[in-house]
Amino acid sequence: MAAYQLSVQGLKVLLLEAGRDYDPVTETPMFQTPKDAPLRGAGGADKPFGFYDATVDGGWRVPGEPFTTAPGSQFQWWRARMLGGRTNHWGRISLRMGPYDFKPKSRDGLGEDWPMTYETMAPYYDKTELLIGVYGGDEDLENTPRSSPGVLQPPPAARTYELLTKQACDHLKIPVIPAHRAVLTRRQDSARLPQRLHPGNRLAQRVLKQSMDQRMACFYATDCGRGCSIKANFQSTTVLIPPAMATGNVTLITDAMVREVTVDTQGRASGVHYIDKLTRVDHHVTAKVVVLAASACETSRIMLNSKSALFPNGIANGSGVVGKYLMDTVGAGLSAQIPRLEGLPPINEDGTAGIHMYMPWWLYGDQAAGKMSFARGYHIEFGGGRSMPGPGIFGGLESFTGGAYGKKFKEEARRYYGSFMWFDGRGEMIPNEDSYCEIDPVAVDQWGIPVLRFHWKWSQHEIDQAAHMHKTFAEIVAQMGGKVQGTVQTDGNKAIAAGGSIIHEVGTVRMGTDPKKSVLNEFGQAWEVKNLFVTDGATFVSNADKNPTLSILALAWRSCDYLVDELKKGNIS
Ligand SMILES: Cc1cc2nc3c(=O)[nH]c(=O)nc-3n(C[C@H](O)[C@H](O)[C@H](O)COP(=O)(O)OP(=O)(O)OC[C@H]3O[C@@H](n4cnc5c(N)ncnc54)[C@H](O)[C@@H]3O)c2cc1C
Ligand code: SF4
Repeated sequence: MAAYQLSVQGLKVLLLEAGRDYDPVTETPMFQTPKDAPLRGAGGADKPFGFYDATVDGGWRVPGEPFTTAPGSQFQWWRARMLGGRTNHWGRISLRMGPYDFKPKSRDGLGEDWPMTYETMAPYYDKTELLIGVYGGDEDLENTPRSSPGVLQPPPAARTYELLTKQACDHLKIPVIPAHRAVLTRRQDSARLPQRLHPGNRLAQRVLKQSMDQRMACFYATDCGRGCSIKANFQSTTVLIPPAMATGNVTLITDAMVREVTVDTQGRASGVHYIDKLTRVDHHVTAKVVVLAASACETSRIMLNSKSALFPNGIANGSGVVGKYLMDTVGAGLSAQIPRLEGLPPINEDGTAGIHMYMPWWLYGDQAAGKMSFARGYHIEFGGGRSMPGPGIFGGLESFTGGAYGKKFKEEARRYYGSFMWFDGRGEMIPNEDSYCEIDPVAVDQWGIPVLRFHWKWSQHEIDQAAHMHKTFAEIVAQMGGKVQGTVQTDGNKAIAAGGSIIHEVGTVRMGTDPKKSVLNEFGQAWEVKNLFVTDGATFVSNADKNPTLSILALAWRSCDYLVDELKKGNIS
């Protein structure tokens, strides 16, 4: 987003990417089925999310680039070393943070407030949703704000299992509403939108129109996690980088592993060192402004490794806050079998290969009345249906088919397939002193760059929240007349997913109003280094239950507007 915003506003941008170049138009396996893949597409060490997943280089482990965890801490870190990073295969769930989410401390005294309000961010959410294309509904629920009229793409129709879930949740007074995902359900209005998004900027309008003209609407092809060759879903490599490159203002260097931001004698950022991974040669490039967006923890790592006489603890880290207040999303899940979904006529209900409906957090009232054992909330993502079977699905049927084989097994498979559902809670984690990353005193990666060591601890709020998720899923399944598969945990410690495993890690270079307690101002500009900006999830002050990427993009847009303005005013030299 930063490369796009800065280049369309006429700045010369050098984009350094640690991974390889990646082109979703030619590289996405749109029509291949599991039978075309080794092991029917099952995941392995180098492709944990399956053979067709868009992550070409990376995963839970990046060969030659380890990280460590402190004794007693458990933390997982998913990295993608490729142009566009994890936006190539993310779930595209794009929920706005609401008014409460920007002021959590003011509401319950925990964590910190963001330096801005929801009202400040709302126009940037609107613009980001229009730019990338997000479908969703028009509901306006407590702390689940609606977009301005005409911003969202129409939501896709609900599928059978979603309607059945809504019916059950209506009884339980849990709202089920259209999900918001960064997928085009119709083509973008390229005649109007570029002017609306970039008034008076002819360069931006031209490149954006070209880009929008090349994007098709979703035709329900295959899993969005593979990427999308028709550019219907949002990934940086189809939506932001092509128009940025078309400005002629961007130079892209791939396989460029940045290791350090350098400073001049006055403490201004002067450029970066990067290692050319193909030749292993260390290069230094100079810049008037340095923008870090290497993903939350990687940005911290670069900053902590940028030590100098002026910044002995890492660049812009006089506060000591760099690396601190690392957060992930609280996750817990259950699956279920629903007899009412058995034996339905086999129709194509693939849809947009992601959620069409979801449940936003609904118990604000109970929380305010002191009836809940934890602060903050969670939303529920759920799925099921009869999409293309992946590896393992028919194996899972065996406990239902009673050892049948031949014709009888086929009948049983037809009966049961499509009757399984999953429910995942995605909740807010409150930042704490015990969850952070720092530079490991010993370990280095294959490029000789010191690596991160993670410390992790959940508080009782998150643990209780995970138990509440299980209880809620069990109630929904019971209301649907179904049966939970697995154990409903009353102990949240047993329900909660490992830190980092939900892949929403944010924080570590947080923004704020007090330079002693934060690293950046509200525009992602370092308090101590005026020409250093951060535009990824590292800037997060809290981690609302809303999945972070839409907010990362909207914040990055706002930071870039400010940066361009400051350059024009001569405030950054
Ligand atoms: C399977 C999956 C599903 C997800 N689903 C959702 C979802 O539905 N909704 C949601 O909001 N979020 C989701 N996420 C999270 C989402 O992908 C991230 O929030 C988002 O991609 C973060 O963007 P980023 O640019 O900060 O980091 P990344 O996307 O990780 O990009 C960082 C980039 O920087 C490069 N880089 C790293 N280090 C260096 C270095 N030292 N030098 C140069 N370049 C470097 C990387 O190669 C990469 O290209 C999901 C993630 C995964 C893996
Ligand atoms: S489901 Fe739609 S948006 Fe997703 S990859 Fe397939 S065609 Fe593209």
